[in-house]
Amino acid sequence: MWRNWGRSYRAEPSEVHAPASVDEVRLALERVRARGGSVRPVGSGHSFSAAARPDDAQLHVDALHGLVELDLPARRATVGAGTTVRELSSLLAERGLAIDCLGDIDAQTIAGAISTGTHGTGLRHRSIGSWVVGATLVTPDGRILRVSEHERPDLLPAVRLGLGVLGVLVDVTVQAVPAFALEAVEATVRLDSVLDDWMGLLERTDHFELYWFAATRLAVTKSNTRVDAAGPLAPRPAVARFIDERVLTDHAHRALLAVAAGVPRAAPALNDLAARLMPRGRFVESSHVAFVSERRVRFRELEYGVPVEAVPDALREIDRALRRVDLVPTFPFEVRAIGADDAHLSAANGRATGYIAAHRWWREDPRPLFDLVEPILLAHDGRPHLGKLHSLRAAELAQRLPGFAAFLAARDELDPDRLLASAWTRRVLGD
Ligand SMILES: Cc1cc2nc3c(=O)[nH]c(=O)nc-3n(C[C@H](O)[C@H](O)[C@H](O)COP(=O)(O)OP(=O)(O)OC[C@H]3O[C@@H](n4cnc5c(N)ncnc54)[C@H](O)[C@@H]3O)c2cc1C
Repeated sequence: MWRNWGRSYRAEPSEVHAPASVDEVRLALERVRARGGSVRPVGSGHSFSAAARPDDAQLHVDALHGLVELDLPARRATVGAGTTVRELSSLLAERGLAIDCLGDIDAQTIAGAISTGTHGTGLRHRSIGSWVVGATLVTPDGRILRVSEHERPDLLPAVRLGLGVLGVLVDVTVQAVPAFALEAVEATVRLDSVLDDWMGLLERTDHFELYWFAATRLAVTKSNTRVDAAGPLAPRPAVARFIDERVLTDHAHRALLAVAAGVPRAAPALNDLAARLMPRGRFVESSHVAFVSERRVRFRELEYGVPVEAVPDALREIDRALRRVDLVPTFPFEVRAIGADDAHLSAANGRATGYIAAHRWWREDPRPLFDLVEPILLAHDGRPHLGKLHSLRAAELAQRLPGFAAFLAARDELDPDRLLASAWTRRVLGD
């Protein structure tokens, strides 16, 4: 039995392949193809959508992990596709390098992270996939295909967000940057003060992030400024990390969620309390430590990218809509911004993007919240993050994602017989 992290999907794969070499990947694909089946590659199962759910066989590349090649002068590292982002960050840190911008967690595999468009925050920065300068895939017909700036560069914008439908990634080459540290300042502020100065905050801050507890006028902001890695670090004291990650985001929050689920009227007050209890302070840590946190309370998430300037209007509209229906989500909305990228299926394709994410505790039905928020984000020219929950189908995605047709052409070339298909890929990409 396989389940994703958010417990939104489960599957009982007919076969589970765990190849330990490129040849074994090829053999696994060959075996499924020979019996007319289908197979889905899976990473660490952190997608909220059914991107990794198999209808038939499943293939893990966890055994293909670790450093394959390092070009230190060019700051390029090739790692096995099953390498987790955490392992990749450590490998790079040991060599004075780092990934430019990470998301909230680092438990994903590098193959999985890039395959759905994982991003962090920073208007002058880009999603993790945009730093992929090469990748090796085993294609459904058993070929080894190298894609890079020199070999089939036309396929890079597809491979940078490939949804596991182009082939099985066996290694990934990333462009790293010199190691850096982040000075992080966390604060509880008034929501309006953030929205009124939204673009200014993004322009003045290297990595700006906003959490908003609905039904309160409070926002928690995290402003990360890049500083010299060789400078003095001031890490979160162990006890603060313990309070932030284990107590606050785990037991205390879980208790608040349980109370709010049973007594919905208490939710606004509890949200106010949660906003006030959120971590605050200042610390300086290596970038790969400061970017990420542990997420111990399970949730489900919908996330859309909108043109970055549209974020204040979209959030205010969500606020009004929530008040009209008296719905108080007990998890904060998370709001980030990222620079444009070139991945065909990316929500940030060709435009600086503000990402707005709605979360629901995994034991609560997310639909009332997501059904309310999604049309507002769509009306603001929203494009879904394909690793998260959304209701769009292929025809609607074709209208919204400028690279959709080019992606389908790459898929037709590499997997004409749809060995890598599932019910989910048919929903979002068509047959
Ligand atoms: C707690 C939490 C926090 C998160 N934070 C962020 C965040 O800050 N920013 C953000 O953008 N997203 C975030 N996400 C979403 C997450 O980063 C993505 O869903 C990511 O794709 C998960 O990677 P994974 O290794 O778990 O891949 P999976 O979910 O297992 O798979 C994702 C996709 O990758 C494909 N795939 C996996 N391995 C291969 C391979 N070897 N070859 C080809 N295709 C492959 C799968 O077929 C599937 O389509 C978060 C998720 C969780 C649960």
